[in-house]
Amino acid sequence: MSSDLVIVYHRQPYEEVEENGKTVFRENASPNGIVPTLKSFFGKAEHGAWVAWKLAEDPVNPGFERVVEIDDAHGKYSVSRLPLTAEQVSSFYHITSKEAFWPILHSFKGNYNYDPVDWPTFREVNWAFAEAAASEAGENARVWVHDYNLWLVPGYLRQMRPDLTISFFHHTPFPAADMFNVLPWRREIVESLLACDVIGFQIPRYAANFLSVARSLLDVDVLERQPVDHDLISEGTALSERSAPTLITYEGQQIAISSSAVGVAVDFIETRASDPVFREQARQVRENMDGSQLILSVGRTDYTKGGVEQLESFERILQDNPRLRGNVRLMHVSVSANRNMTAYEDIQSGIEETAGRINGRFGTLDWQPIALISRAIPFDDLIKYYLAADIAWITPLADGMNLVCKEYVAARTDNDGVLVLSEFAGAAVELNSAVITNPFSNRSMDQAILQALDMPQAERRTRMTALRRMVKRFSVEAWGAEQAAEFDKARKRRERANPT
Ligand code: UDP
Repeated sequence: MSSDLVIVYHRQPYEEVEENGKTVFRENASPNGIVPTLKSFFGKAEHGAWVAWKLAEDPVNPGFERVVEIDDAHGKYSVSRLPLTAEQVSSFYHITSKEAFWPILHSFKGNYNYDPVDWPTFREVNWAFAEAAASEAGENARVWVHDYNLWLVPGYLRQMRPDLTISFFHHTPFPAADMFNVLPWRREIVESLLACDVIGFQIPRYAANFLSVARSLLDVDVLERQPVDHDLISEGTALSERSAPTLITYEGQQIAISSSAVGVAVDFIETRASDPVFREQARQVRENMDGSQLILSVGRTDYTKGGVEQLESFERILQDNPRLRGNVRLMHVSVSANRNMTAYEDIQSGIEETAGRINGRFGTLDWQPIALISRAIPFDDLIKYYLAADIAWITPLADGMNLVCKEYVAARTDNDGVLVLSEFAGAAVELNSAVITNPFSNRSMDQAILQALDMPQAERRTRMTALRRMVKRFSVEAWGAEQAAEFDKARKRRERANPT
């Protein structure tokens, strides 16, 4: 059945589990996050389709149905599963995307690894995604492609299907030309993106960076530039912009550039956070703290997240402020991705060694300064820690948005708690009532966490109230509505450009 909306996202929109020898599709364990929001778009479509990959030993005879029909809370939709071999997944996802693109997107030139990249495989996999999307899409359908591992899909899709309205959303940062142009495939990637009707970014800075990249390579003109919403200017912080390009033109085609921050499901989190069961669990966590303040840090094990740098700041403040010893604890959750990649293993070892050294230097039988957790905590458990923590300490060196900090704020229906946030997280442009810190400066890092530990209650409440207003305004639903509006505008532009 052809669809009027096709979402192309590398991951499947459900978990496949075996029950009594039968495969069943189950909603993702975390109801929070982007997948449910994307699926909610199907509720407004005549018929939707989702394209993702699925591991197959032999893609010609994958041993599973290529397309399955799902009927869940979001309605009926097809899921087209693209069979990829383990070698293809490793090459296009773990190598090209994670070893070459990821470091450049996050401005870590030193981690860029060109040598193992097999570009023909990247093209081949992206072509296969585009073919799968084209075969699901009905006449004039909307196709929504997600993230950098599918960068070449829009260009291929446009060749196959000129009738489609194509939008592409970047979940990561997008760097300026000096950084992006390290990629030798830069022109091919940018030309593909310019085949879209809409190119979406999280914040105006990434949109501005994209424009600088496009103009360094091709004759792109700006048709429209707009002032940035006042709520998205965090005065004086690293990622703020005062205006952003919103419409550009290339080879006679108009392309909208959208800047729209992914948010969190505030109502869902608030309901959880108000539940007496979670409140009681949080009370127990606090009781076990023996009067110590609890600092919570949650992220993936990745060099972009600045885990070691944060632990070193904690070590310095314990060293310089003996009054804190015995009176503060850091719960450092660093979820290891288990990718068998040396870069990630080294970061994990660095975190373990640093935390171990700090516990060894300052810990006693009764008090361990750091609780290090390397496994993923189920979302419901995170809620209780969000409620119990005096401080959320979120200090990535680079982060497209960062949802953990928004979840912490959404959970704090008591208007208490302090958020310490890196100015290099996309979220910092809207959360300027956080204690903003620069993770590249030891002094800034140490001062910020000390300020948070000593903050009087009245100031905590004022800041948290302001933060909560932002997190509610820029919720995941608001992001979805903006994306839908961009699609509508793009379709109208198309109709005006190609009247029937
Ligand atoms: N998360 C989780 N358990 C953990 C750590 C993280 O469920 O132990 C979730 C967290 O609630 C958030 C997501 O993982 O929704 C991380 O998103 P974020 O944007 O902060 O970081 P990313 O990993 O996408 O860079």
